[in-house]
Amino acid sequence: MQVFTCPFCGPRPETEFHFAGDLGNLRPEGFTEVSTETWTDYLFLHKNPRGESKEVWKHLTCMEVFTMTRDTVSHKVASSTALLPEGGA
Ligand SMILES: [Zn+2]
Repeated sequence: MQVFTCPFCGPRPETEFHFAGDLGNLRPEGFTEVSTETWTDYLFLHKNPRGESKEVWKHLTCMEVFTMTRDTVSHKVASSTALLPEGGA
């Protein structure tokens, strides 16, 4: 089992975390004016790069959201976790 580090709770088993999306995938502005295609792209299309990926994760125990840089091939966390930047992901 892999261990991720919550910036608030410290190292915890991966089963306590939920992937929340790619860092920088911002929710479209103007709810009623956004096309179905734009919503579909936002909700379902992910970058899914090979190698280093900057992601948003949620720790289900404390419900805090934070960023993590992870290698999608080796699953190794490439850097320490951090609080979400001001203004969202
Ligand atoms: Zn936590």
